[in-house]
Amino acid sequence: MAEERKDVAVEEQDAAAAERGGLWRRLRQGLTKTRTQLVERIGAAVEDRGVAPEEVLAALEEALISADAGVETSLELIARVRGGLRPGELADPLRLRELLVDEVAILLLDAPPMPRIPVTTRLVTLVIGVNGSGKTTSIAKLARRSLDLGESVALVAADTFRAAAIEQLVVWGERLGVPVVRQGQGSDPAAVVYDALQAARARNISHLIVDTAGRLHTKKPLMDELAKIGRVVAREGGEDCARRTLLVLDATAGHNVLRQAQEFQNAVPIDGVVLAKLDGTAKGGMVVSLARDLRLPVAFLGVGEGAQDLVPFNAREFAKALLGTGAE
Ligand code: GDP
Repeated sequence: MAEERKDVAVEEQDAAAAERGGLWRRLRQGLTKTRTQLVERIGAAVEDRGVAPEEVLAALEEALISADAGVETSLELIARVRGGLRPGELADPLRLRELLVDEVAILLLDAPPMPRIPVTTRLVTLVIGVNGSGKTTSIAKLARRSLDLGESVALVAADTFRAAAIEQLVVWGERLGVPVVRQGQGSDPAAVVYDALQAARARNISHLIVDTAGRLHTKKPLMDELAKIGRVVAREGGEDCARRTLLVLDATAGHNVLRQAQEFQNAVPIDGVVLAKLDGTAKGGMVVSLARDLRLPVAFLGVGEGAQDLVPFNAREFAKALLGTGAE
């Protein structure tokens, strides 16, 4: 079997290195708002000693729903916790959190993973998402991660609709020391990608990260634009060139995000989600909804405004960071 790229998932054997690199600490910090709220609610449910066990479980369920874990998924989680409980454990908030960590991790491991990408000479990552979602910052973070993995990177300004988008990408390119392939505002995005592929060949660049307009006014322009870019990549990228599409979503937008994700999902094939601004919300349970209810693979989590603030998704570490039973 062909070797696979390692930039998405952090496998168990890489987990120790991830810990040393501070990734899980960053994840725990990013989930502070969500965790604080969940932990407080679980504590309050248990402390209220007058209530019946079923009410403690109902309060847990409510806590999960209020963190946007999704109604069905929250019900399923509680049913599983109930099944695993031993006498007396309902009075122990820490034990309840441990049980929930296990069940959240099991649910997430059962959700669709990012499709594996074979190690190729070149990877083209198309990034879509609405304005303000954190798309440009996420592109910079993806570039930072590739650089850290020893790859050569270029950013591609194929969101030619707004001059500001091109400029913003140029600023990040300068900051990161990576080239930015661009044309003027209003030019054909596929032509910019064509230029980028030529430049990649000439300068031996292994990862092109493409900022697309990725708008969703109506499905058709988005589908057409991405299809056209896809054709250029297939034709000009050569045989040994892989392509993936990542959707950036803004975690602070709450429920709207799930609806938006569904609309994008109906319009174009999405390989994975980058959930940005997770640090700015107490609704981090949304990751569970995306993975379980929408069956969308979660690839990366954005946990801050800096280029280092990107964490590859790992089910177990996410569950631990969400419920705070690991090292703080
Ligand atoms: P775009 O319009 O979709 O390209 O969005 P930007 O990348 O310009 O981001 C919009 C705002 O969100 C900027 O102020 C970013 O600094 C901020 N932002 C992006 N990602 C994150 C994140 O993961 N955490 C936080 N706290 N802010 C973020």
